[in-house]
Formats: sequence, C-alpha cells, structure tokens
Amino acid sequence: MSDYRRIVLAVDLTEESNLVAERARRLGEAFGAEIHVVHVIEPLSLAYGGDIPMDLSTVQDQIHEQAKSHLAEFSAKLDVPPSRQHLIFGRPESEIQRTAEAVGADVIIVGSHGRHGLALLLGSTANGVLHGANCDVLAVRVGQEAQA
Ligand code: AMP
Repeated sequence: MSDYRRIVLAVDLTEESNLVAERARRLGEAFGAEIHVVHVIEPLSLAYGGDIPMDLSTVQDQIHEQAKSHLAEFSAKLDVPPSRQHLIFGRPESEIQRTAEAVGADVIIVGSHGRHGLALLLGSTANGVLHGANCDVLAVRVGQEAQA
C-alpha cells in the first residue's frame, strides 16, 4: 500500500465532526499527508424546490456566511490554511467526490452513523461517497454507537 499524500476530510460541521477530524489529523500525521477540509451547503431550492413561494437568496447568503466562518474556525484547529478549505454549494455526495478529484486526494474521510430502519433504506452520505469515489474512503463511526 502506498502512503496517503492528500486527505479530503468531509465535515457537516456538527459536534460529531470533531471525532472525524481527530482521525484525519492522526492519519495526516502518520503519513505526513496534507489535509483539505470540505463542507457542502445544500441549496435551499434543492431541499424545498418550489414548496416555499418566496425569495430564499437572503437566507441562503446568511447560511453561506455562517458556514464560511464555522469552516474557517474548524480548519484553524487542524492548521488547515484557507487555500485548503472548500465551501461548495450542491449535493454533499457528489461535491465531496468532485473535490477529492480536483485536489488529487488519495483518501476521503467521512463520518458514518449506524443506521436502522427507514434511515438504512434511505442511505447515508458515507454510502453515497463510497459509490463512485476514485480513491479510498474511510468511514469513521460517529454517533451513540461510537461512544459506547
Ligand atoms: P450523514 O450520512 O448525512 O449523517 O453524514 C455523515 C458524514 O457525511 C458526516 O460526518 C460528514 O463526514 C459527511 N457529510 C454529511 N453532510 C455533509 C456536508 N453537508 N458537507 C460535507 N460533508 C458532509
């Protein structure tokens, strides 16, 4: 197995991201790899389509500004400079894969929840990233089961 040189760490910026980030930090240290952090903002129009009859652009701008500062704060803790922070609009699965390709990553790190019932049927971001990724994908267990 060759060394990992470039890691893409995908974060939803929830509390659980810290656990996933810690794994990325250690892997980065072990291989002397460079870490890129990606956060994807799902456009409100994708989530709600034409269901809300109003202009959502102001709300979307606010979400973008807030996400930008959260991402910067989060990345600073990992010593990841702005040039390696990626804030992107779109669907998380495809944008995470696209970012990994764009930066030439050899591994993507995502969080993964143990899922049951309907959630299992609907699938997860980790699953979506895995299918179609051109590099390794490390799914770090998060949520209640990870703390047990
Ligand atoms: P989920 O399957 O949506 O619970 O998400 C599990 C993992 O997918 C998270 O821990 C992140 O690694 C990644 N992820 C989910 N949503 C996003 C997002 N909007 N941007 C970047 N990564 C995400």
